[in-house]
Amino acid sequence: MTETTELAPDQLEEKGASIEEVLEELARLYLRTVALPLPRNPATLAWQTTAGGLAALAARALYYVALDDSERAAALASFYRGPLGDGPHPLGVGLWIERNITKPAGADIDEWAAEAKEGAQAALAAASKPTGLRDLGAVLGDDVLALLISGLGASWKEWEERGSTRRLCFLPGCTHEVDLVAAWSGTDGSHGEGWMSSSAVGYACPEHAARLWANDCQHIPAWQATGGGSSAELRCTCGWASGAVAFRGHGTTLYQVHALEVLGARA
Ligand SMILES: [Zn+2]
Ligand SMILES: [Zn+2]
Repeated sequence: MTETTELAPDQLEEKGASIEEVLEELARLYLRTVALPLPRNPATLAWQTTAGGLAALAARALYYVALDDSERAAALASFYRGPLGDGPHPLGVGLWIERNITKPAGADIDEWAAEAKEGAQAALAAASKPTGLRDLGAVLGDDVLALLISGLGASWKEWEERGSTRRLCFLPGCTHEVDLVAAWSGTDGSHGEGWMSSSAVGYACPEHAARLWANDCQHIPAWQATGGGSSAELRCTCGWASGAVAFRGHGTTLYQVHALEVLGARA
C-alpha cells in the first residue's frame, strides 16, 4: 500500500502553495457533495454525485502527479484556477478536448456538443412537465413549505381571505379552484388530488389535467426560445405551436384556445 505516502514540503515549494490549495478545495468539494441532507431533486442529486466523483478523481490524480513532477502538478493547479481565477476557460478546454480526445477517437466534437445540447433540452422538457400539486409538496419537503408559507406574509389569515393561495383552473370557463397551501401541505385531506401544475401555463383541475396533461395525453405545453431577441413560442407535445410571442401571456392565451379546441373535439 502506498496510500500513506505524503508530499514532501519541498515538492510543493517551487510554484507556491497552489497545489495544496487546489487539493484542499477538491477535498472540501468532495465532502460537500456527500454531506447530508442530499438534494431531493433527482437531477440535482445526479449532478452532485458526478461532481463528487470527479473531485475525488482530480484530487487523487493531482496528488500523485505532484509526487513525480511538481512542475506539471503546479501547471494543472493553475489550469484548474483558470486565467481569471474562476475556473478553466471553456474555449481552451474545448480546443484541448478536440485535439487530445475527440480527434484521436475519430469523433467530431461538434457531434458531441450537439448530443450534449439534446440532453440539456430533454432535461428542460422534463423539468417543464406538469407536476401533480400533491407530489410537489412531497418534493419540496416540509422545510421549504414552511418557508414558502411564512414568506407569503405575516398575516396568514389575510392571505387566505384575499384568496392569494387559491388558483383557478387555467381553462377559460372552468370554475374549479384549488388552495395551494392546503394541497401542498396535505393537511386538508385529499385537497388538491388530481390537480396539476405546469410551469408554462398554470394549474389544471383534475378533469382537465386528466384530459390534457396526464398519462398518455399529448398536450403538454413548454416554452422554447425562438432564436433572436426575447421572443419565445409555446409548443404543445401534439405539434401545435403558438408562434413567436413577445409576451408570455399571449402564448398562454393561444394555448388556452388550443386546449378548448382539443377538448371540444373530444367532447
Ligand atoms: Zn378545469
Ligand atoms: Zn396540443
